Amino acid sequence: MKKTLLITGGAGFIGSAVIRYILDNSNYKVINIDKLTYASSLESLKKYIKNKKYFFEKLDICNKNKLGKIFKKYDPQLVMHLAAETHVDRSINSANTFIKTNILGTYSLLEESRKYYQSLNKKNKKLFKFHHISTDEVYGDLDLKSLPADENFRYDPSSPYSASKASADHLVRSWHKTYKLPIIISNCSNNYGPYQFPEKLIPLIILNALDKKKLPVYGSGQQIRDWLYVNDHAEALFKVIVKGKVGETYNIGGNNEIKNIDVVKTICKKLDTIKPFSKNKSYVNLIEYVEDRPGHDNRYAIDTKKIKNTLNWKPRESFETGIEKTINWYLEKYKSNNDYA
Ligand code: NAD
Repeated sequence: MKKTLLITGGAGFIGSAVIRYILDNSNYKVINIDKLTYASSLESLKKYIKNKKYFFEKLDICNKNKLGKIFKKYDPQLVMHLAAETHVDRSINSANTFIKTNILGTYSLLEESRKYYQSLNKKNKKLFKFHHISTDEVYGDLDLKSLPADENFRYDPSSPYSASKASADHLVRSWHKTYKLPIIISNCSNNYGPYQFPEKLIPLIILNALDKKKLPVYGSGQQIRDWLYVNDHAEALFKVIVKGKVGETYNIGGNNEIKNIDVVKTICKKLDTIKPFSKNKSYVNLIEYVEDRPGHDNRYAIDTKKIKNTLNWKPRESFETGIEKTINWYLEKYKSNNDYA
């Protein structure tokens, strides 16, 4: 069995960072399966199109028949599952595609992985791993006094998005317990960095500010999230799938609990120095408080002791350094004809 890694959702924000990391830092062959929804960007992988270790298959993970053919064609040793619908607001407006992709799509992928795994010989069975990339949102709202969520924290998702990811986590665990599929799950906090679709908070604020448009903040902006630079997540994920223990869950985070309003103000102040708004005005003046999202969780926080102690991983970027890199990246893209996505 060759060193081949099959990744779903590899044209997305995190998936593309994972592919760039693996192709730059390992000798794995990478097969990227992606349906290419609105959130995807093949621009993020342009540099690798001619790389002999990179293969792309346009495919919906709900299509079991075609998935089965891909397993036969490429004979993967590792599967990293990232394909998902990911925007909470969209899940509130219509949960349909979230249920289809995040739950039924995960089910299809598990079933085809199980069939494939059962067809492997003893030696190759030992090498196979299925890694589900999930979110800290499955743990739901944490009150201010609560300790950060560790891997044994209760599940209590609040939105259709987080409920669909929690369902997928449960399916993945049950395929391990029932069918002995060698799985690993990781749950990560909010990512930020290059190539994120600009409906998510950080790219939305940067690009609106550059366009001198209003900067919408839900409610009073007091919600707390933990933030991780996407390249740090990519490194953690590769470590988890290669070195992580089958059957285990790993929480991944940046140890950066920040209120949404402070994230927005930090971006404004950085932009004030990098690209001043005008002589007497700050980007902060563009902030506009808008009606809160229904079911909006107040706080997510994640305990990262396990991955630090067992896999020796910790983030390289602080929020300060990561946000600067991110703002500069969007600025460059913005200058070159708004071609950020
Ligand atoms: P994204 O929305 O940027 O990308 C998702 C990718 O999946 C896109 O390329 C899309 O085309 C693809 N996709 C969607 N439906 C598909 C289908 N039916 N078949 C095949 N491909 C399909 O998402 P992201 O932010 O990169 O998140 C990736 C994964 O990480 C998701 O599973 C998400 O739940 C998880 N996660 C994200 C964050 C975050 O802050 N972004 C944090 C923790 C966990």
